[in-house]
Amino acid sequence: LSPAELNDFLAAKRAAYQALQGRGLKLDLTRGKPSAAQLDLADGLLKLPTSISDADGVDVRNYGGLTGIRQIREIFAELLWVEPEQVIAGGNSSLTMMHDCLVQMLLHGPVDGQPWVGQPIKFVCPVPGYDRHFTMLASYGIEMLPVPMEADGPDVAAIEALVKDDPMVKGMWIVPTYANPVGSTISHEKAALLAAMPTAAADFKIFWDNAYAFHHLTEEEAKSEDIISLCSAAGNPNRPIMFASTSKITYAGAGVAVLAASSANVGWYQKHYQYASIGPDKVNQLRHVQFFTNAQGVRDHMVKHREILAPKFAAVDAALTAELAGLGVAEWTKPTGGYFVNLDVVDGTAGRVVQLAKEAGIVLTPAGASFPHGHDPRDRNIRLAPSFPVLEEVETAMAGVATCVALAAAEELSGRHTASA
Ligand code: PMP
Repeated sequence: LSPAELNDFLAAKRAAYQALQGRGLKLDLTRGKPSAAQLDLADGLLKLPTSISDADGVDVRNYGGLTGIRQIREIFAELLWVEPEQVIAGGNSSLTMMHDCLVQMLLHGPVDGQPWVGQPIKFVCPVPGYDRHFTMLASYGIEMLPVPMEADGPDVAAIEALVKDDPMVKGMWIVPTYANPVGSTISHEKAALLAAMPTAAADFKIFWDNAYAFHHLTEEEAKSEDIISLCSAAGNPNRPIMFASTSKITYAGAGVAVLAASSANVGWYQKHYQYASIGPDKVNQLRHVQFFTNAQGVRDHMVKHREILAPKFAAVDAALTAELAGLGVAEWTKPTGGYFVNLDVVDGTAGRVVQLAKEAGIVLTPAGASFPHGHDPRDRNIRLAPSFPVLEEVETAMAGVATCVALAAAEELSGRHTASA
């Protein structure tokens, strides 16, 4: 644009923003929470279980059964392409299981290594990524080594270079399917490379966080890579620990979480977990078994979520397209699963967009949240979470966000123009 055209554009966006502020909105797109309508889908749970014992006759009201009840392990085994003996069904949060694993590795060492505590250990972190993975690592002072996330999973060449010589690089996190926030699913080739890559640390671990394994937004359902078999075939059976949960299948606060791994890793987890618990909430596990009946029951249930979620993701895309397509000031993902849209704006303006949105009554995830220590070196990344508000609110909020993106871009570009003039 010529300086005059840019001025006109800026004036138009300022006017649009003033109008937006005048609407007195109060909308929240911050966290990937299921909506009330999605939670309602699982309300059958509230009348379950209808019995007090599981298929093996275990009284689920009592203590015991550290690995979780057999039937819930079987359902997850089928969904995650592993054997039931490789699954531990725990409490309501897979994040807690990840935290348990990390802390046990720090204090007692992983199944194939010495305690990590007291050493300057590092984790590879694909970015943008899940903020809670990063805050967990930060809370233990673990250095994070960012690598770019791509359309088919993380930049594996960059990971290989980081892990091959430095024995202090002990692990990595990855959301393999419909990643938070970029939505990409790792390719078979990349998963196989991660499984086989030489690592200087003999006890290198992949925290394979399959939180969105079944969370498809289209009929084309991505299949999760079977990292456990891949690692096993590559001679690294204890490298991966897989995590998943029903937090975004049934109730986010009262689902069932699982981990799956080699039998050595499963034994290792139990060895330490026995000091922390006399057994998980088997009543909740049994009501989940009765609610779903089998793995197909879970898949069928996810279609109902898709019907609620897909229109919201379409609304995000429509609002961004209407305001920003062709301007060259923003790029965003069109995910086929998961809970997020990744929005990249003009470098240096993500913080400004979030501030403008806030001042217009639309709360977004803080800029930079998807990077270690909340620091996006280019200040351009925004994670959009359209699941929680009702569709109409998503439409209104996203039209507002698009206005803020355009205004922040116009401000930045006219600032640059003035500075260079
Ligand atoms: N992993 C990822 C990638 C997530 O996005 C989330 C939820 N936002 C979780 C884990 C949390 O899982 P849970 O509820 O099982 O602790």
